Amino acid sequence: MKNEQIAKIKKRLLSLRDEIRKVIDWRDTSQGGDGAMDEIDQANELIEKEMGFVMSNNMMANLKEVEEALDRIERNRYGKCLHCGEEISPKRLEVLPFARFCVPCQEKMESKGY
Ligand SMILES: [Zn+2]
Repeated sequence: MKNEQIAKIKKRLLSLRDEIRKVIDWRDTSQGGDGAMDEIDQANELIEKEMGFVMSNNMMANLKEVEEALDRIERNRYGKCLHCGEEISPKRLEVLPFARFCVPCQEKMESKGY
């Protein structure tokens, strides 16, 4: 994978992380007050649009996946399947920047019911 592609993905991951944190912070601190709601709606929308996330109780898990992907970028391990070590196709990473496994491995795991 080219450095510039990775740089682009890193940018997306960073802004995604910010958005997720915003939502989590809001949930932690807000008692359901008004004003903040609009901003959170916007953040939700952005994340959903960007990633196809299913919002709800998965925010912490999503944040963790994004942070792990950033960590892999820092360690120059980004874009490799954690299972078989093969490169994950750039197309897949475009859709799912924090993908940990290549498509064949992912499918194998899903069929096993993990
Ligand atoms: Zn694999």
